[in-house]
Amino acid sequence: MKAKAVTRLARAKINLTLHVTGQREDGYHLLDSLVAFAAVGDVVHAKPATDLSLRVDGPLAKGVPTDERNLVLQAAALFDCPRGAEIHLTKHLPNAAGLGGGSADAAATLLALGELWDEPLPDDLLKLGADVPVCIAPLALRMRGVGEELSIIPPLPDLWAVLVNPGVPLETPPVFKALQQKENPPMGQVPDCTNAAEFAEWCAAQRNDLQAPAIALAPVIKDVLEALEPSLLARMSGSGASCFGLCASAQDAEKLAAKIRAAHPQWWIAATTLS
Ligand code: ATP
Repeated sequence: MKAKAVTRLARAKINLTLHVTGQREDGYHLLDSLVAFAAVGDVVHAKPATDLSLRVDGPLAKGVPTDERNLVLQAAALFDCPRGAEIHLTKHLPNAAGLGGGSADAAATLLALGELWDEPLPDDLLKLGADVPVCIAPLALRMRGVGEELSIIPPLPDLWAVLVNPGVPLETPPVFKALQQKENPPMGQVPDCTNAAEFAEWCAAQRNDLQAPAIALAPVIKDVLEALEPSLLARMSGSGASCFGLCASAQDAEKLAAKIRAAHPQWWIAATTLS
C-alpha cells in the first residue's frame, strides 16, 4: 500500500575529517573523509497531490531557493516517472554552511518520495551533489572518490558535539579554488575507539584540508574555532564556515554551547550527538 504522507529528518552532515587527495581531469576533487551525522536537521514532509510543489519555511529559510534550484525539486525530478506531491521543507540548518543541508534535504526527499510513490531510488544520486549518496543512510561512513565510494568503519564511540555557524554563508567552489595544494595524503585507517577522548586524539592527527583556504575567505572561522577550543577537538566541517567541537558527554556539550551562546548570541549553535 502506498504511504499517505511521509516525514523525514534531513540530518546535518559533519566532516570529522576532509582530506583532498587530488583533482580529476573533469575538475572534480578526490576526497577522503570521515562523515558523521548530527541529531539536528531540516524536516521534509511529503504528501500526495496532483502537482509537484515545494513550500520552504522554518527559522533558517532565508536565502534558500524555492524554485528548481532547490535540491528538493532536483531530487524529485531524478525519478523515472515523477508524479505529484506537496513537499514542505522546514529549514533548521544554515545554508551554504558546510553541514550539507541541501544534500541532506535531497536525500530525505528521495527517501520520502520513493516511499510515497512506491518507486525505487533513482540511480545517479551523485548528479545532485557529492554528499547526497552518504546522506542516504545516514550513518558514519568513510567517503572517498568524488563521493561515490562509501565504506563501513568501526562503530564510533558515544560522541557529542557543539556545532557553530557564524552566519557567514560560504559557497563551496571558491573554497576549493583557494586550495593551492590539491594532492594531499589520505586519511589514516579509522581505529576502533572505546571512548570520545581516544577518538578525538586520532581525529586530531587527521585534517580538513579546506580549513585554511576557508579561513582566508572568512576569517571569522578562526574566532569560531577559538570559541570551541575547550572541546576535545575543534575543526571546520566541509567547506565551512560551520565548525564542530567534539565532547565526551551531553553535559559537556550543553555547557560549552551555553558558554558560546552567551558570548555570541548571533551565532547558530547546537549541542548534539554524532553517529
Ligand atoms: P556541503 O557541506 O555539501 O558543501 P553546504 O552546507 O555548504 O553543503 P548547502 O546548505 O547544501 O551547502 O547549500 C549550498 C547551496 O545550495 C546554496 O547556494 C543554496 O542556495 C543551494 N540550495 C539548494 N537547495 C537547498 C536546500 N534545500 N537547502 C539549502 N540550500 C540549498
